Amino acid sequence: MRYGHRPGRDKRITTHVALVARAFGANGFILTDVVDKKIMETIRKVEERWGGKLHVEMGVDHRRYMEKWKRENGIIVHLTMYGLHIDDVIDKIRNTNRDLLIVVGAEKVPRYFYDIADYNVAIGHQPHSEVAALAVFLDRLFEGRELHLSFPNAKVIIEPCAHGKKVINVGEKETRKN
Ligand code: SAM
Repeated sequence: MRYGHRPGRDKRITTHVALVARAFGANGFILTDVVDKKIMETIRKVEERWGGKLHVEMGVDHRRYMEKWKRENGIIVHLTMYGLHIDDVIDKIRNTNRDLLIVVGAEKVPRYFYDIADYNVAIGHQPHSEVAALAVFLDRLFEGRELHLSFPNAKVIIEPCAHGKKVINVGEKETRKN
């Protein structure tokens, strides 16, 4: 869940949050308080070619969404440099076996988020990026397994290659080499 998106200014970084969510094994991407059709188009274009289907919601009221999530779904993890070090909480979070709403901010995140979160988690205690924070969190949560994910209905897949690029057109069983 991405809070604080400013259309125009944050388009690229919010798109990267969504793409990291998809590639690193999240089931969904929630953009709060604002709808950004460009971001939706990019996600759908990536899926069209690379497969999978991310659950996407935009324009949801962040308070209502988070309160409902806690009542009906699972727990909230807010990523913030002020939180507890990831090393000290990741096993506990994984072992809850509950669905997680992972929240990242943009600029300043209001106090409300720190209070409603079940866990405020720091990916180190230096300021960096919502994209990096989400990637590291998901990688630690899934212990690296997410980097071996394959996505259903992909039109293309990559054949790993020491030099250059090999892309296989699924279905056509045809390899394009660049
Ligand atoms: N000073 C800002 C604040 O109030 O948290 C930092 C904003 S930072 C550009 C945007 C987002 O990146 C934060 O809301 C947080 O979700 C994430 N982030 C940045 N550094 C982080 C860190 N060390 N640990 C966890 N999350 C981080």
